[in-house]
Amino acid sequence: MCREIIEGLYQIKAKKPGSHAYLIKGKDLTILVDSGVHQHMAELEESLASAGVAIGDIDILINTHEHFDHIGANKFFQDSVMVAAHRSAAVKIVTGDEEVTMCRAHAQHVTGYKVHMWLNNVDLIDAGDFKLKILHTPGHTSGCLCIYEPRKHVLISGDTVFAKGTIASVYKSGSLGEYLNSLRRLATMKIQLLLPGHGIISDNAEEDITKAIENVETLMNERRNELPG
Ligand SMILES: [Zn+2]
Repeated sequence: MCREIIEGLYQIKAKKPGSHAYLIKGKDLTILVDSGVHQHMAELEESLASAGVAIGDIDILINTHEHFDHIGANKFFQDSVMVAAHRSAAVKIVTGDEEVTMCRAHAQHVTGYKVHMWLNNVDLIDAGDFKLKILHTPGHTSGCLCIYEPRKHVLISGDTVFAKGTIASVYKSGSLGEYLNSLRRLATMKIQLLLPGHGIISDNAEEDITKAIENVETLMNERRNELPG
């Protein structure tokens, strides 16, 4: 299922266990954010077609992080589409680390996956009417990124922030301390629309991020109290 959220930006809803994908039809570039699990490629292709986009029309596929439910269908794109991820995610995707991509647990294989563009914090992808600012937001994993459109005040947040401030589990390469820093940085930005990798979208992003910070702080305090002595 594909729906236009704001002009030129579409959400392709997740079919579980995959993540939502977002399609940006910019004046200069067509960009897909996350590909979901490979088993749902047929549905993804149908959804793209309903927005008038074929795989060959996509210029860049950006992965918000290295988890299987966001990268699984990459292999159907990577020979004709430029794949981009934060460098900390890219290294795990291309080495096929099944443990950190969660692929082993979900019986998916990451062999032969490619990442053509290894992104850094504050890189900018200029799609014409969409300027996509890459924010490295480690916490859930070390390779998480969010994509911020500063003029439209939209944040594609992957698994970093969900509606109502729900936070994601912290995986092996992630860290609660980094999660807190990432959220505090997001809290300084003007964001009106939150487009997460799972669950509902939110037009109350600033409140969601404030709540997410509280949730991480509570978790940190609980962990601190569990320490001996
Ligand atoms: Zn994840």
